Amino acid sequence: MIMIAGPCAVETATDTYKIAEELSKYDKQIILRGGCWKPRTKPDSFQGLGEVGVDILVAAYELYELRGCCLEVMDKKHLDYIINHYPEKNIILQIGSRNMQNFELLKLVSSYSKEYGNTVLLKRGFGNTINEMCGARDYLQHDNVILCERGIRTLSEASRFTLDLSAVPVLQQKTGCRVIVDPSHAAGEKSLVPGLARAGIAAGADGLEIEVKSASAKCPRKCDEAQALPMDEFYILAHLCEDIDKLLKK
Ligand code: PEP
Ligand code: MN
Repeated sequence: MIMIAGPCAVETATDTYKIAEELSKYDKQIILRGGCWKPRTKPDSFQGLGEVGVDILVAAYELYELRGCCLEVMDKKHLDYIINHYPEKNIILQIGSRNMQNFELLKLVSSYSKEYGNTVLLKRGFGNTINEMCGARDYLQHDNVILCERGIRTLSEASRFTLDLSAVPVLQQKTGCRVIVDPSHAAGEKSLVPGLARAGIAAGADGLEIEVKSASAKCPRKCDEAQALPMDEFYILAHLCEDIDKLLKK
């Protein structure tokens, strides 16, 4: 099972190291996520630490011997920084929901990941169909692509977005790619995250991307605080999801 976990955004070195340490105590196979360039709705919201954030994220995953890290890229400058500074590291290049149909970005990420071997995590646009996602996947002309269902806009106001679980088997069948579920952005609220995560694995997802915060965190996070799962709750959830996954593979 692929497990990508970490803060919404890299905020400080201390906080990121703490989260990496806590995740590593659970399982060193976890991939540490953390946005460094954040696509925020409003310009006065925290925009991420940029290049410094990448340095922190890579150092944190290495120090605690996690499997790798994952961050969103939106621009050629971001790709150049990652490739020039960390050509040998295990860095998953995430294409966010808001950029699923940014075709020039898709072409750029495709050529970088082909040349340097990075895995690409393509998230579904929250207003996009499965066919549009398949088209976006086709722009990434190599095999190392993971798709992510993260919720779409519907009439429901019960959660931030509506997790479209049928996307999991449909995308697996149509693309042959591994498909993971992001319950955090779908839920928008931490009490809803465990149920959606468990349902995602039960639907056959190949893994999860979950936003977490340290057990000892005191300040609210600058980004997506409401959906950040406290670490003790993450441990319980990760265990349960592994059990469900094992049961399905029996
Ligand atoms: C994220 O994973 O950091 C993120 C912004 O998610 P999405 O693109 O799905 O909104
Ligand atoms: Mn987030």
